Amino acid sequence: MQKIIPFVSRGSRDEVVGWLEALRSAMPEFEVDELDALDQPALLEAEVAIVADPAPSDLQRLPKLRWVQSLWAGVERIVAELPDSEMKIVRLEDPQMARTMAEAVLAWTLYLHRDMPRYRRQQTQSKWQQHPVCLPSDRTIGFLGLGQLGREAARVLLEQDFSVCGWSRSRSDIEGITTFCGPSGLEAVLSKSDIVVILMPLTGQTRGIIDAKALSTMRKGAALINFARGALVDDRALLSALDSGHIDHAVLDVFDEEPLPPSSPYWSHPSVTVLPHISAPTTRSTASKIAASNIAQFFETGVIPQAIDRSRGY
Ligand code: NAP
Repeated sequence: MQKIIPFVSRGSRDEVVGWLEALRSAMPEFEVDELDALDQPALLEAEVAIVADPAPSDLQRLPKLRWVQSLWAGVERIVAELPDSEMKIVRLEDPQMARTMAEAVLAWTLYLHRDMPRYRRQQTQSKWQQHPVCLPSDRTIGFLGLGQLGREAARVLLEQDFSVCGWSRSRSDIEGITTFCGPSGLEAVLSKSDIVVILMPLTGQTRGIIDAKALSTMRKGAALINFARGALVDDRALLSALDSGHIDHAVLDVFDEEPLPPSSPYWSHPSVTVLPHISAPTTRSTASKIAASNIAQFFETGVIPQAIDRSRGY
């Protein structure tokens, strides 16, 4: 008899249907079903589930659950909502997602590097004025977070000849990149960089890490790209740094409250580019294959794939 794998998600109907289709096609040896389609024995037996932003109350309907395969790379919400659970959380680590994120980092770094916000402003004023072009090698891009996504994005920027530095919790050794760790390392990256790219998880240690002090450590006229989580940045401090001109421009893809409320000053701020959390969406086909392979391996060997470390929060 085919093993039944529950799929648990708070996503829209279209998202759920799209995921079920992709997962069923990637793992035909299993039966992948929504919770409501499962009978009581199936709910009682499930040891593993595939999740995409699951409701904690739904997971509680699976009493034997040992681990979940998340279809998201960021697991902040599930970790926060199930703080005491012993269930292991395996996040999505998809090389395709890293490539998609690297493409977004490259696109928005070039947008800032080639002064596009300024030329856009000039166009609204019918103003013809040229500004000097800076070479990529004279521009330092600093990454906060050198994990799966940060490393690939840093590699792509190196290929474009940018100077790259980065900060992580533990020491990283990456060819061509000046790396730092620890509190003094954060200061070093912020003060060296013309563009700071945030690609670290939201944890107890990182919440609000880009506060007034961090922003004042950044170079005058530097820019910020936040592609990780909104709550890493203190919004009031960032708005004040943008208003004063200390920070020239911010590209924000993620916000403390999403969708970004219409009342947010970010929408109309001339020095802010608002994106609706699109820098690196999960690619269903590749993510489903990764979930399929992890789950098949678990049933073959009994080994749960590498899970996130709850004590670190990521
Ligand atoms: P990852 O592989 O877990 O890497 C996280 C990096 O952050 C690591 O380098 C880690 O240091 C560093 N870090 C964590 N806590 C730190 C701290 N307290 N101080 C300094 N460095 C710290 O995560 P990832 O796959 O690269 O993803 C990063 C984040 O991107 C996710 O958590 C998610 O929030 C976000 N994301 C956004 C989108 C989007 O579409 N906007 C899509 C996917 C993911 P170590 O190397 O020492 O562990």
